[in-house]
Amino acid sequence: MKHYLLPQSGQFYKVNMHSHTTLSDGKQTPEEVKAAYKAHGYAAVAFTEHEGLFDLSHLSDDEFIAITSYEYSFGNPNNPPFCFYEGKVMTFDHNEQVHLNFYAKDPHNTKMVCYNPKRVWGNTRNYLDQFQWVGTPDYERVLTVECINEVIKTARENGFLVSYNHPTWSLNTYPTYSRFENLSAFEITNGGSDRGSDLDYTPYVYDQMARTGQRMICVAGDDNHNVGGFFLAWTMVKADKLGYSELIEGLEKGNCYASDGPEIYDLYVENGKVTIRCSDAIGIYYSTAGRRTGCKLTNAENPTVNEATFTIKPEDFFFRITVKDKNGKHANTRIYYLDEFGKDTLIGIVSNVKQTGKMKPEIADALLSVIENTDERDGYHLNSLYQQAMELLK
Ligand SMILES: [Zn+2]
Ligand SMILES: [Zn+2]
Repeated sequence: MKHYLLPQSGQFYKVNMHSHTTLSDGKQTPEEVKAAYKAHGYAAVAFTEHEGLFDLSHLSDDEFIAITSYEYSFGNPNNPPFCFYEGKVMTFDHNEQVHLNFYAKDPHNTKMVCYNPKRVWGNTRNYLDQFQWVGTPDYERVLTVECINEVIKTARENGFLVSYNHPTWSLNTYPTYSRFENLSAFEITNGGSDRGSDLDYTPYVYDQMARTGQRMICVAGDDNHNVGGFFLAWTMVKADKLGYSELIEGLEKGNCYASDGPEIYDLYVENGKVTIRCSDAIGIYYSTAGRRTGCKLTNAENPTVNEATFTIKPEDFFFRITVKDKNGKHANTRIYYLDEFGKDTLIGIVSNVKQTGKMKPEIADALLSVIENTDERDGYHLNSLYQQAMELLK
């Protein structure tokens, strides 16, 4: 039986998960951004203004959804404007920041969390008198992982999905992003930053975060501030129909993928193997929690690939698939964790590796019997399954 990783029913809706308008530091009005994206086949735009949460529901119609959202930055404002570089972070341009996007699950939720009007800058200050917040408006936001995690947690508790944005532009490193907690999403491609740097397509950061145990979907957005930054990277969300709650539910369930070019049509697991079908590609890549990878590439007889099937091994723990086209653009599935699959799919994975001789039969049999005897409601945590299998083998 096929276990669909992207639902078989419904349709994909194209969403720009990151944008700025004249409400903050963008050059176009929200109406102009809507018109441009709608004309370009987008079903939704998240208006992630800096430091300002606006309900733009009046822009939503039968064919377009305005996602209520905002972006916060964490940084150190005390760096001097000029210095001699001595290997130390000294000026604003050398200064690490962390940017998070917050997406309201309810389009009319305009209460910002951890708010402080002192942080509002530029055009957004024109709307200070209409902003609302949770708690008291004196939150001191600082660039520490503790503070970032507190803001993420508060936002999640108050009805927001939270995305971690553009790690390269922000000069982030492993000691920072490896310790985040409770994120809903990782921005694997920031269209605007990547266009100007070729550096903010960061799948390896997604893998590193996942290897610390963090679980989140991946998204892509333009972070557009001007027309030159339109239509660069997007998120495809699968839903039964176009609606605000349907899109949010699709994101929450991980029924989505990120892209700046290729399309993914189908993704399913059957008999221990994962199959992907996609638009014309030059490579399809399978990567895991560990070093193990797989790929299907073009050759002289087959100048494009549109489908690939990879064997899943239980010790992969998680996997994701990348589609690369001839223009060097990528579609990225989210990371799928083997322990989110049900009993039958896991049995298929273990049976398949047993059959192909890639796992010792006695280990496979022990693992199969543990999975058979585990109640679906308790979940199939791989570490615990392995441990129990090892006990059986003693
Ligand atoms: Zn940003
Ligand atoms: Zn931004």
